[in-house]
Amino acid sequence: MNHAVNVRFAPSPTGALHIGSLRTVLYNYLLAKKKGGRFILRIEDTDQKRFVPGAEQYIMESLQWLGIIPDEGPEQGGPSVPYKQSERLAIYQQYIQLLLDAGHAYYAFDTPEEIEEMRKRLKEAKIASPQYNSISREWMKNQFTLPPEQVKEWMDGGKSYVIRLNVPHKECIRFHDVVRGWVKVDTAVLDDKVLMKSDGIPTYHFASVIDDYLMQITHVIRGEEWLPSTPIHVLLYRCLGWAEQMPQFVHLPLLLSPNGTGKLSKRHADQYGFPAFPITWNTPALIVEKGFREEGYLPEALLNFLALLGWNPGTEQEVFTTKELINAFSLERLGKSGVKFDIAKANWFNQQHIKKQDPTIWADYFITEATKEGIACSEQNAIQICALVKDRVTFPKDFWLEGSFFFVAPNSYDDDTMVKKWNVQTKAVLIDFTQKLSNLTEWNHKNIRQFLQESIVAHDTSVGGIMPLLRLALTGKTAGPDLMDTIVLLGKDKVHTRLTVFLISRS
Ligand code: GLU
Repeated sequence: MNHAVNVRFAPSPTGALHIGSLRTVLYNYLLAKKKGGRFILRIEDTDQKRFVPGAEQYIMESLQWLGIIPDEGPEQGGPSVPYKQSERLAIYQQYIQLLLDAGHAYYAFDTPEEIEEMRKRLKEAKIASPQYNSISREWMKNQFTLPPEQVKEWMDGGKSYVIRLNVPHKECIRFHDVVRGWVKVDTAVLDDKVLMKSDGIPTYHFASVIDDYLMQITHVIRGEEWLPSTPIHVLLYRCLGWAEQMPQFVHLPLLLSPNGTGKLSKRHADQYGFPAFPITWNTPALIVEKGFREEGYLPEALLNFLALLGWNPGTEQEVFTTKELINAFSLERLGKSGVKFDIAKANWFNQQHIKKQDPTIWADYFITEATKEGIACSEQNAIQICALVKDRVTFPKDFWLEGSFFFVAPNSYDDDTMVKKWNVQTKAVLIDFTQKLSNLTEWNHKNIRQFLQESIVAHDTSVGGIMPLLRLALTGKTAGPDLMDTIVLLGKDKVHTRLTVFLISRS
């Protein structure tokens, strides 16, 4: 393998991918692509209790939609197959034995009740965060406290046990984090973490360190919530004799709720009415959670938005294609503090990316929507309409919402505008304009504008007086794209008919 940069995204299939995980996967991907390295997808499914059917497929489909295709992974294969931890159990057995043999790990036979009892006792003794550690383990049932014959007898007799990390007493663990700088942790605050559970399945800590080493991961880029686990991982590297191969740690600051209070959660997403997940997630309880894909966000726009939540390019540029993000990305420009999640900004990025798209893509979309309504629309006409309304569009569905009036005549008129703008003069202009439409031989901006202008002057009114009424009569709306462009595109016949209908409705 031997690439300069190998990164991994290591989700646990416990449900839908949270928006924060999307940013994590994106930064991993950007770094790998920027450095010509490998982006690995590893499924961390060792916690059987939290396993959710369908979650793994969901993760793959989400990445596919975003265009983030792993170089190695369960579907792609690669030199480190298998990429699902539940299929790598024999590998972990081999390495746990090394730790046991070297005395860095030990057997512990305590029942959950006994551990609970120990914690209770420590709490009563005013120890704030009780741990199973170098002090408390002295009173527990483990390899350090039991005679070897007893250990053997229990093991031979099939008594349930776990394997714990032998965290040294009072040592300072130091490691460097790309975002945080040097981090120091006293082992006194660490737990002798369980590495291997009683069913012979490794815990996250153990499996992920083994795999990061075997997969030659150079950068562990993950959310800040994993920072407290990192000293355990650092110790494991040391105990396994792999300190030299330890990856660089990059702990990303939290995404915060829209008002900046606390970590962004699904509850905030519900509260502010935006999706929390990349694609729709049908929960095992049959609840449908909406996704960014189904809500009409473009994958490139979502990635662009996420990229800038915690990273900045050091320039004024905001709109990036994924290719441009790859070129611009660097770990040095990651921010240190939490970033507020502002959905209005995501919508803005969607608008910007929609504007950049080839109009024929939206024309096809427009035609599909028109066809659903039983309306025939040529590609050329759809392209013209989409080009006209595209500045008013945030989501693809808006093309039809904004442009359907070209096919569907208004059936009611806004009262407010009528009260404000309808008077003797404006009425006279519209009657005049309608009657003389047929004299306009060349249907173009210049002629229509001139003609309207003459009418306006003749009846002593103003552009501001007539335009809102004209828009209402022709489109049924109070706002829309450029009115002259709209009139030209509607064509003489439709304009004439709609104005006539409007005037009749007023008489
Ligand atoms: N399996 C962990 C998760 O669910 C991975 C954490 C890490 O990247 O080390 O997020």
